[in-house]
Amino acid sequence: MAFSFFGCIGTPVIAQEDFALQREQMVSMQLKGRDISNEATLRAMETVPRHEFVPENVRKWAYSDSPLPIGNRQTISQPYMVAYMTQVLKLQPQHKVLEIGTGSGYQAAVLAEIAHSVFTIEIVPELGESARNRLQNMGYTNIAVRVGDGYNGWPEEAPFDAIMVTAGAEQVPLPLLEQLKDGGRMVIPIGPHHGVRQLKLIRRKGAKFKESNLMAVRFVPFTRDKD
Ligand code: SAH
Repeated sequence: MAFSFFGCIGTPVIAQEDFALQREQMVSMQLKGRDISNEATLRAMETVPRHEFVPENVRKWAYSDSPLPIGNRQTISQPYMVAYMTQVLKLQPQHKVLEIGTGSGYQAAVLAEIAHSVFTIEIVPELGESARNRLQNMGYTNIAVRVGDGYNGWPEEAPFDAIMVTAGAEQVPLPLLEQLKDGGRMVIPIGPHHGVRQLKLIRRKGAKFKESNLMAVRFVPFTRDKD
């Protein structure tokens, strides 16, 4: 009797510690071990409990060096990609950020650990609603989740210091360029549907946009509302 009682309350506590250890290892091996050096990004990656954003059946792989399924045929990016895309935005504590493709809400949480506020849009209602509940239950008060087509951005909250698109588009949506602040940065995977895409960094200087290719990537496709 005593054993089973102990086992019931003991197991989750051990698991939490284990996840914290796995998270530390993820940061040192997969991030610092590569080219992630921005302190704020590393701290955010060490803080956000990635295992709470993935389905129960893949939780044991939450800190592995790979993307994971999150339901509705969507995926949460590999930790390195989350950190890389975050680092490239050069976020400051006062920044207002727009994310397109909320998915699980994990990337939004990482951004919200660094920036002042995060506005994130998800086209699949089930994903958007569960991410909103999850982030609320976790105590994030600086993230707003909207269900809809991110192509149009979030005009009421524009302009944004930084914009991150976490689904692969064929072209950069014009409304997103318009909603980027002067001096702002956008990171977005661009390329053919279902093919290898280029992760692009776009920097705004007045009416001009400077574009550079960062690396070849694979992302789930950017979809559009039919209506
Ligand atoms: N950033 C997410 C993972 C994103 S996967 C995370 O941290 O978990 C890409 C997401 O973009 C998917 O959930 C997909 O449904 C969403 N998406 C695709 N096209 C979209 C669009 N036009 N507007 C908003 N979200 C979109």
